[in-house]
Amino acid sequence: MIHHPIIKIALPVPLPRLYDYLQAEDGSLTPIGSRVLVPFGRRKLVGVVIGHAMKSDVPAERLMRIVRPLDQSEPLLDPGLLELLEWCWKYYKHAPGEVVLSALPPVLRKAEGKLPAPPLEYFLTESGRERLEQPAGRQKTQFRMLETIVSEAGVAEALSGIGSQWRKTLARLMEQGWVEERAATVKSPVFAPGPQLTKEQENAVGKISQDLQHFHCHLLDGITGSGKTEVYIRLMEEVLTRNRQVLVLVPEIGLTPQLLRRFRERLGLEPAVIHSGLSQGQRLQAWAAARAGRARLIVGTRSALFTPLPRAGLIVLDEEHDASFKQQDGFRYSARDVAIKRAADLNIPVVLGSATPSLESLSNAFAGKYAWHRLRERANSASLPQWRVLDLCQQDTVHGLSVTALEAMQETIDRKEQVMVFLNRRGYAPVLMCQQCGWHGGCDRCDARLTWHRSAGLLCCHHCGAQRRVPKLCPDCRADALMGAGEGTQQLEEALEERFPGIPVLRFDRDRTRGKGVMARQLEEVMKGDPCLLVGTQMLAKGHHFPRVTLVVIVNIDQALYSSDFRALERLGQMLQQVAGRAGRMDKPGTVILQTLHPEHPALELLLTRGYEAYARWLLEERQLAGLPPSGYQALLRAEAHKRSDVEKFLYEAIELFPQGEALAHGPMPAIMERMGGRSRMYLILISPSRASLHRQIDLWLPGLRKLPSSRKTRWAIDIDPQDM
Ligand code: ADP
Ligand code: ZN
Ligand code: ZN
Repeated sequence: MIHHPIIKIALPVPLPRLYDYLQAEDGSLTPIGSRVLVPFGRRKLVGVVIGHAMKSDVPAERLMRIVRPLDQSEPLLDPGLLELLEWCWKYYKHAPGEVVLSALPPVLRKAEGKLPAPPLEYFLTESGRERLEQPAGRQKTQFRMLETIVSEAGVAEALSGIGSQWRKTLARLMEQGWVEERAATVKSPVFAPGPQLTKEQENAVGKISQDLQHFHCHLLDGITGSGKTEVYIRLMEEVLTRNRQVLVLVPEIGLTPQLLRRFRERLGLEPAVIHSGLSQGQRLQAWAAARAGRARLIVGTRSALFTPLPRAGLIVLDEEHDASFKQQDGFRYSARDVAIKRAADLNIPVVLGSATPSLESLSNAFAGKYAWHRLRERANSASLPQWRVLDLCQQDTVHGLSVTALEAMQETIDRKEQVMVFLNRRGYAPVLMCQQCGWHGGCDRCDARLTWHRSAGLLCCHHCGAQRRVPKLCPDCRADALMGAGEGTQQLEEALEERFPGIPVLRFDRDRTRGKGVMARQLEEVMKGDPCLLVGTQMLAKGHHFPRVTLVVIVNIDQALYSSDFRALERLGQMLQQVAGRAGRMDKPGTVILQTLHPEHPALELLLTRGYEAYARWLLEERQLAGLPPSGYQALLRAEAHKRSDVEKFLYEAIELFPQGEALAHGPMPAIMERMGGRSRMYLILISPSRASLHRQIDLWLPGLRKLPSSRKTRWAIDIDPQDM
């Protein structure tokens, strides 16, 4: 064996490099993918071995030795996963150490953290069985444990309740030679029968099943209630039968107890769940079980994507359009895009499911790059809701609710049904709008929308950078009626309580549902089916089934109609479809009321009359004309500092350095929420017709950026394929 004295290590520090160390004194092994403890300045850090080399650029006298290998030199990350992580740090221009360490559960990012031992099970020996045939005698606890081992197949959890010192008891039984231990066997799944598939479902299952042996990206484009989850379950059965693992990624809000119960009941196995809300111990156990191949079904949110899967057979990403699949700080990756990359590397299929696919995925489906499976009928034949658009210019309103909407709510309550009032409070760029005539600012220099920067009293164009002061009166009708679109809904909950006395008003938003158990309690109340009013944000639009809700009122959409964010219309269309999908699912058809100052807006018209697919095609054409994603590629250079002048100086110097090529840099411009946490946030936007040239130019640019003295006075980062501005 050739001796490579230099070990290249990924360390959790925000610098774009690996670190070179020398072997430990005793020459212990440090295979690629294993954890090591190394000296770093005055600290000791846990790192992951990425490679071995003959020599280092670091002068020999400055090279340090690793302190010791961890986990008895067992590699925790396999070569395939390390390759994926390396692709990630290069593609997303992020520090390798932070990328690699993010693939470990938090416990294993610390030196004390240990890989848990595989679970054991216990069984009786011949003499143990003989003992059980004798009377219990004085050793009652020992006897009870022997009985339990027989009846519960020796699962450790079942024994832990026996006596006050069950471990001692168990040790005594083993000393006597009555009990032996062995590694727990992996239970095979036991499938429960499901419903007869619809024609459309059968089609999708059939086509994807034929294609399970190699990589292909499948878009399961099915309206809410069309039975996408049922399709996933049938595919999982096939993959589990072949003894392979399935990874299911869901949005943060989508990982509900109902979903897990459905998997458990249908597949007859316990899903290993991975998300940030679990205790560190639980997360470690689930991760270790997946890595050892014991866990057959892994269900998690974004970060579960990097779980080691020695027997991977299928990746499913549900609600693929959901914004929570993009990490918005630190290592800003898209779990959807990386999942596709991972499936390609593993040569296994990936299924993206959504009722409202992202424009990126749809355009790939239109182009034939993804296999496109459409489910257009509801599996349980519930009818689709009716839309009603209310022109707010013609209506009296009370706290943002029109009189007509209030009357419809009253009628619904009188019929003993439930109402959902949906506030569209996503972080759209704020727009100033005239409540009298519907005026909204446009840029004089280009045809982009102006963003309202309230604290600065400015209207800014995020396209060309133009700025002007906020007018006092409406420039069109001279009314004193300028207001942020969607304002005046904060008191909605109180207003509803006053207006509908005796009817429970249940609020679903981040603040309200943060309290432990609040979400579950409120959901339970809704499921009881008595008349009530649900008030909420995005959280209500996803995942939950509300069979007794027959009226949905969507209060404020105008901000999205005229947002400067080019994704706003895509997200609005997705949100409207998703919300509408919550209503009238079973026997009762639902109604969706949309309130707007702009009922004639062409996008609304198209969406409501022709549906999401036609709407998406139209948006894609607009994007293509403008060279916007997915017809063009973008990246941001984000920067922030306490002093706006520091940020500006850095970004002006940065744009000077941007290399020539197809990709162009624009800015600096303020972020849509410019001040956050006492810092000024601004960015440069990099736009290119080709992905390759965008990356080439950024890679050329970065070393120079890092050398700029002004770069040290700001916190900055590259955001590839940004989702928000
Ligand atoms: P989606 O994931 O597309 O929203 P689900 O798979 O959750 O849809 O299905 C919606 C409802 O229809 C669920 O209650 C499910 O049990 C039921 N369902 C799904 N497929 C069928 C089918 N083929 N026949 C009858 N009911 C079905
Ligand atoms: Zn006006
Ligand atoms: Zn402009």
